[in-house]
Amino acid sequence: MIIVLFGAPGVGKGTQAALLAERKHIPHLSTGDALRRAIASQSELGIVAKKIVESGKLVSDEIVTGIVKEALSKPEFANGCILDGFPRNQSQAEALDVILQETQKEIYRVININVENEEIVNRMLKRGRKDDAEDVIRHRLEIYNNQTAPLLNYYTNSGKLTTIDGNADVEEVYERIDDIL
Ligand code: AMP
Repeated sequence: MIIVLFGAPGVGKGTQAALLAERKHIPHLSTGDALRRAIASQSELGIVAKKIVESGKLVSDEIVTGIVKEALSKPEFANGCILDGFPRNQSQAEALDVILQETQKEIYRVININVENEEIVNRMLKRGRKDDAEDVIRHRLEIYNNQTAPLLNYYTNSGKLTTIDGNADVEEVYERIDDIL
């Protein structure tokens, strides 16, 4: 069972995915976390990804698709996972469909967490990650609007999308997600 947590950067996907992992024992797969780990370990991948992630741009589809493909073939993800931060554009969504077919998995639900832009900027400034400077945040939101948000149509058409209001505290948003699952 694959659950895709969808939404702009800063809406709380990572927080909710971590809670779902802890409480429902569904493993969490975050391409952003995987990239940050690669950057910290200064692996070849990390060296390539560092500048791109820090500038708020998207790393190549090939890199992130490779991360997801490798992870989903591992035994710990045999029963599925919560995908956080992937897919982020049409080509990644199509690549995911192929990977899922190959690994005999299926998307159960795509949960779109909706939060207004100004609230997102406020939350991210508090988070204080290296790619959370205000100009980088605005750039990431623009990329989200141009490349990622159009996927909402793709998943609406497949009948798998549910949108929830993410303007609430962590536990309340968790309840809303839990109701869907
Ligand atoms: P996140 O933690 O999901 O906000 O991701 C942090 C950064 O990692 C993004 O701003 C991108 O630079 C990179 N990244 C994470 N996931 C993807 C993806 N699916 N496609 C391209 N870049 C990604």
